Amino acid sequence: MTALNFLLLVLLALVGYAAWWQRACRLAVQARRERAIDELNHAHAEAQHAVTARMAAMLDSMIEGLIVIDARGRITLANRAAERMFAFSRMMVGGTLLEVIRHHEVAALANRVNAGEGVLEHEVRLESPTLRVLQISAVALRDAEQAPAGAVLVFHDVTRLRELEGLRQDFVANVSHELRTPLSLIKSAAETLIDGGKNDATALTRFLEIIDKNANRLTLLIDDLLLLAQLDSGRVDLRLEPVVLGEAVRDAFDDFVMKAATRGVTIVHEVPAGLVAQADPNRLRQVLANLIDNAIKYGATNGRVSVRGRKLADDRVELSVRDDGPGIPPEATARIFERFYRVDKARSREQGGTGLGLAIVKNVIQAHGGEVRVESAIGAGTEFFITLPAARK
Ligand code: ADP
Repeated sequence: MTALNFLLLVLLALVGYAAWWQRACRLAVQARRERAIDELNHAHAEAQHAVTARMAAMLDSMIEGLIVIDARGRITLANRAAERMFAFSRMMVGGTLLEVIRHHEVAALANRVNAGEGVLEHEVRLESPTLRVLQISAVALRDAEQAPAGAVLVFHDVTRLRELEGLRQDFVANVSHELRTPLSLIKSAAETLIDGGKNDATALTRFLEIIDKNANRLTLLIDDLLLLAQLDSGRVDLRLEPVVLGEAVRDAFDDFVMKAATRGVTIVHEVPAGLVAQADPNRLRQVLANLIDNAIKYGATNGRVSVRGRKLADDRVELSVRDDGPGIPPEATARIFERFYRVDKARSREQGGTGLGLAIVKNVIQAHGGEVRVESAIGAGTEFFITLPAARK
């Protein structure tokens, strides 16, 4: 082999090696790029999974129900609160709103938003699975080209809020009515006196008595309302101390000797000695006064009112006030502790009742951590029970 041939051979080998080296490098770079892309994809998928899981946890922890629909009105996402509100399962995601929640008003609202009405607020009543009032906020979704892409519906349960508003309105109406009655009696009595009634001694006395009686009624009503407002806001300071119940009942009886005698009612003390409650003596006196007053007022003429007591097993004591009057109908016993609820309106007003006595009894006893209940049957009298914590030894 000549030197030239040898040189050529070496050159060829060098070119071949350079080509192989280039290819090997290219393959190594490509492999590294692919690995990097794989790692990036994996990290991206993991990050996306974490975001989705976090989003799902956030949506499921919301009190409001949330449903997302696509442009064709099919549910694409629903949180747990929405499932509970409308009693459907996640399996039903993919169905239309109407198929899944079966509420025409909600479906119609979603259609309007889907059709481009932007943001809508609306309130609907659900009859099932339970009676509910829902406030709905619906917002349209748009895709990158601003074309309709569905809607997000948020359901806020305002059932309790509406109930409380209703109670407040009823309460204001009742208070106005209760105030107006004695006020108009006072006004007409005063007008009669001004118009000449004052010149007749008998009429003067009669109309002044009407004014006095109704002014007293207004005072009672306002006192009861103020006490209930204090109890509601927890502003009543209970001065708890051991109260010997037998003595408390005897004191309460003293205030009703005259009233009982007027109706020929016998009041009977059956509270055993040694029964001691942890209570505020003044508030307890008020509770006993309301219950004994009612038993005398609504019990039988010439009847019997008895107060009994006993110790209960779990460090509580119980008192009950029983009469042998006409009793309370079953549908009324459930409502008897409501403010201004009266079984016989005319009788209560004629007796000077404010309609708040039993509501005060319930609130005061509950503020002590006790309970109230009533047992009654038509024609078989009525018995009110209160429980209180026993005095600490
Ligand atoms: P009121 O001022 O009208 O007496 P209460 O809250 O004390 O208000 O009582 C509410 C209603 O419950 C009364 O109007 C009456 O109709 C009924 N009631 C209360 N106690 C008795 C009872 N012992 N027997 C029959 N009905 C009663």
